[in-house]
Amino acid sequence: MPRSPSIDTKYWPHKKYFEVYHRSMENPEGFWAEEAYKLPWFKTWDKVLDWKPPFARWFVGGQLNASYICVDQHVKTWRKSKVAIYWEGEPGDTRVLSYSTLHREVNRFASVLKNIGIKRGDKVALYLPMIPELPIFMLACGRIGAVHTVIFSGFSAQALADRINDIGAKILITADGSFRRGKLLNLKEIADETVKFTPTIKKVLVVKRTGSGVSMKEGRDLWLDDLLGEAEAHVPPEPMESTDPLYILYTSGTTGKPKGIVHSTGGYLVYNHAAYKWVFDIKEESVYWCTADVGWVTGHSSIVYAPLSHGAAIVMYEGAPDYPGIDRWWDIIEKYGVTIFYTSPTAIRLFMKYGADWLKKYNLSTLELLGSVGEAINPEAWLWYYRNIGEERCPIVDTWWQTETGGIMISATPGIEQLPLKPGSTGLPLPGIEAMVVDENGEPSLTSEKGYLVINKPWPGMLLTIYGNPERYAEAYWRKFPGQFYTGDYATKDSDGYFWVLGRADEVLKVAGHRIGTIELENAAISHPAVAEAAVVGKTDPVKGETIVTFAILREGFEASPTLEQEIKKHYRRVIGPVAIPEEVYFVNRLPKTRSGKIMRRVLKAVASDTDIGDVTTLEDEASVEEVRKAYEELKKGL
Ligand code: AMP
Repeated sequence: MPRSPSIDTKYWPHKKYFEVYHRSMENPEGFWAEEAYKLPWFKTWDKVLDWKPPFARWFVGGQLNASYICVDQHVKTWRKSKVAIYWEGEPGDTRVLSYSTLHREVNRFASVLKNIGIKRGDKVALYLPMIPELPIFMLACGRIGAVHTVIFSGFSAQALADRINDIGAKILITADGSFRRGKLLNLKEIADETVKFTPTIKKVLVVKRTGSGVSMKEGRDLWLDDLLGEAEAHVPPEPMESTDPLYILYTSGTTGKPKGIVHSTGGYLVYNHAAYKWVFDIKEESVYWCTADVGWVTGHSSIVYAPLSHGAAIVMYEGAPDYPGIDRWWDIIEKYGVTIFYTSPTAIRLFMKYGADWLKKYNLSTLELLGSVGEAINPEAWLWYYRNIGEERCPIVDTWWQTETGGIMISATPGIEQLPLKPGSTGLPLPGIEAMVVDENGEPSLTSEKGYLVINKPWPGMLLTIYGNPERYAEAYWRKFPGQFYTGDYATKDSDGYFWVLGRADEVLKVAGHRIGTIELENAAISHPAVAEAAVVGKTDPVKGETIVTFAILREGFEASPTLEQEIKKHYRRVIGPVAIPEEVYFVNRLPKTRSGKIMRRVLKAVASDTDIGDVTTLEDEASVEEVRKAYEELKKGL
């Protein structure tokens, strides 16, 4: 297959980025080894890369420990008295943890885990709100070599149980609750419901956050506070193989079951340490705030592992962005003197709705750099962000990456060199990343022609596999274009080599930046007794990017009604969680399908959004233009 470099550097005038990128392409292993030496290793590797397609193992033979990198190395320096975490609770309570406090807590939490029988290689499920105990437990797991899986606290009991059972977690760690928009969320109740269906969970460890009374089951449930009394002050960090898993994080794919994305210890940390410097130009004096939830990959890499590996001061906020008022975030930026602010286009669009007057009260002059992640940022939101939050002073790094990539892959890199920005474009690939846009046959697309975004070479942050299912890993990412990692996204590349990511090419939705598979949503719908068949599509939304629309065929004996619609929405909440509640449920007699039985989602999408079906390109449907048009007319008529 013909290969062309991902950027045509002969036209590229900017020396520094060009120089680094080329070095990374000419000698990738030498380049990544140089980056790896920036971290403290207990033992250096024997081999930089062991590439047995599609499985890559980085820094083979090397030994290191994530908690040593994120905490211990800093307490050996003046940073022991530096702030690691400024935490702000939704009700306004605050905690400030220095690196030495973080070190002490990580050790004590690691001791608690050991004392209740958690060993190297065991799986630990974390179902916690945005409180400091969440990163502390992640680091404590890493310290003793246990593998954590963080489950977003917005998921329901069933979604939580599915993930726990897939991984066979030994212990579930949760809290008595959390605050969200002034309300108390009782996570323990959800955990209690979950463990009825999770035979591997022997203990439930509970963090006290709200102080609201929760029921504790004797012999199974334990308060963290009680165990901390017995905890040792020092637990030596376990020397982990670079290729040992650090964590497993579930994400949606194109089949029903969420995929357990397995990340390595060495490759993941090396990649994130490097990418974080290139993208955010982190400095000793930076105060960095990423508004994501730790339950998603952005939270793992960009709140916990990358910033802490640099000894950065981070801000962490528990609650809703608009509580108690729409100015909560700007208040936090002023209060902590945030210099780097990283958020999602959905949040920006939410604030745009309320105008810029809310901002005037606050001093945002500490900000130096802004970031965006989760979905493409529309130029209008980009400009609003640039003008009103960044006061036309701060560059915006629009960072493209995914759960699978482990770290940021395509973005501006002010930490190397600030290149011109184009609103709506994620810019150029990071050093070491050979990104391309290809057509259906895997051939490079023409300039500005829509195609599939692929990555040619393995990179250290790449997932190891899908937990328990290497075959699914090979199928999902490597079979469509042999030898190239398939991202599942559409993109174009312009004549400057800048990438423009156009959204998912597969059956995955991005609702407020959260990834949810249509099949997962369809399975949830048909698990309702009234639904015989269902199809789910995304509808364009001015704030959330996409909202969920369900087309449902009812079983015999059920009548379409507003009450049934509400009931189905509630059912989604029960099965997956509040993130999965559809905006609309349409009841139909038939679903548009191709001759081979594939649902024509394009038709459903057009009907849901009340738009024409537009050009039918071969990229998106196997059906003929006539078939698609006919199905579209029929469906519209039937509604
Ligand atoms: P997740 O794995 O949940 O982080 O979702 C990854 C997906 O989010 C990608 O495959 C893209 O579809 C989308 N995405 C993330 N960041 C960006 C971005 N900066 N621009 C466009 N799409 C993005």
